[in-house]
Amino acid sequence: EYDVIIAGAGLAGSEAAYQLAESGYKVNLIEMRPLKTTPAHETDKFAELVCSNSLKSLDITTGSGLLKKEMMLYNSFLMQTALKCSVPAGGALAVDRVLFSNIITNSLKNHKNITVTNKEITELPINTDTPFLIATGPLTSDILAEHIKEYCGGALYFADAISPIIDADTVDMEKGYFLGRYGKGGDDYFNIPLTEEEYNIFYDDIMAAPKTAFHDFEKISYFEGCMPVEIMAERGRQTLTFGPMKPVGLEDPKTNIRPYAVIQLRKENKECTAYNMVGFQTKMTIGAQIEIFRKIPALKTAEFLRFGSVHRNTYIESPKHISRYFNFNSNKNLFIAGQITGLEGYNESIAGGLIASLQIARLLQNKPFLDFPAGTAFGSLSEYISGISEFSKNKKYVPSNFHLGMLPPLEKKVRDKKQKKQIQIDSAYQKAELFYKENYGNR
Ligand code: FAD
Repeated sequence: EYDVIIAGAGLAGSEAAYQLAESGYKVNLIEMRPLKTTPAHETDKFAELVCSNSLKSLDITTGSGLLKKEMMLYNSFLMQTALKCSVPAGGALAVDRVLFSNIITNSLKNHKNITVTNKEITELPINTDTPFLIATGPLTSDILAEHIKEYCGGALYFADAISPIIDADTVDMEKGYFLGRYGKGGDDYFNIPLTEEEYNIFYDDIMAAPKTAFHDFEKISYFEGCMPVEIMAERGRQTLTFGPMKPVGLEDPKTNIRPYAVIQLRKENKECTAYNMVGFQTKMTIGAQIEIFRKIPALKTAEFLRFGSVHRNTYIESPKHISRYFNFNSNKNLFIAGQITGLEGYNESIAGGLIASLQIARLLQNKPFLDFPAGTAFGSLSEYISGISEFSKNKKYVPSNFHLGMLPPLEKKVRDKKQKKQIQIDSAYQKAELFYKENYGNR
């Protein structure tokens, strides 16, 4: 009866439904709202933006701008709608959220190839022969989440606690030293030493910083390993120096003196173009993170590729279960997209829905799946969820937005940061365009 079934009319599900319907496939779009709602949605409309109304930068010299441009290449319906409903917001794409959801809801409900069914999906359709896309989001209903957890052998998380990632080129290497604790790990760690005075200022700043409020449904108990840094700080002035800022075994190799406290940066990828601030998952606002972390001498000019955050977020350990084509390794007809795959953010969720819809169309046409090239935003996202990426291979899987650090480093060292970004982005977009022409040139 249907060519494709999609569960969830959020950002990923709405994009995928529109694309497949426009390609002539009969789509059954299943959405539980308003029969049952999530703790964050307030309406029964599709593609509701649950928090901010900003889809981030349009600037094509940013990761977010590149991702948008690649989505536009494939005529992303949600991107086109966002541009139609944009409201002035400097360089960012902010939208009138009511208009945005209304246009999407009406277009999908009135599409001749889409049938909307109001119900809650309670199980993963493990053996489905009809392509089925799970796009039930970070607030997937409990019963379905439990079933997914069971199916994935427990590999499903209900919260994520992520620490900032910094562009390696923007760290002042003169203001610290490479050393693993007790000499282990060699140059995988860059240590930024803090004096007692510097630590005290840093501590006071963290305590005083504005934090994003916890929603009721986010009152989660933390494992010690992913506790927000400010919650740990609340336990006492010294607590951080026994936790993520512990200096023991990190004596400065030049002076052999143990600093009062240390901020450790860990290499995020082999090429060492990005560093993770170890243990700095946080609810501090983005503005506070920039201000406080840039007070540290080595981080004065730090550019953040990803900010720290902590929130309720249901996501699977994608690299264990999902291929780069957004389908389960155990059943090629069962697809999954959106925030539940660990792609973080509005744009990434839309992009995931778009990529999954293109792969589903290939399956329906009996054609091989598309290998989005490495070095493009779509390629990077595909590699991230499937564990091919340096950023997700053999490490604890945490959600991530797309950032420029995911693109391969330039072969030639370019000192000028702006110029470097521009070269990376131009090359990524050229690859993306070429790939599009090769595969959809006659469309
Ligand atoms: P959603 O847009 O949430 O869509 C999932 C849909 O599936 C929903 O309509 C839901 O009702 C439905 N559904 C759930 N379970 C079932 C079921 N069992 N059966 C049928 N239907 C079901 N990202 C940003 O970039 N900026 C932000 O400001 C931002 N704020 C966020 C705030 C909160 C509170 C949360 C939780 C996330 C936020 N995100 C933000 C992250 C993310 O970008 C959004 O959650 C985004 O909407 C995810 O898109 P999605 O398509 O994966 O899921």
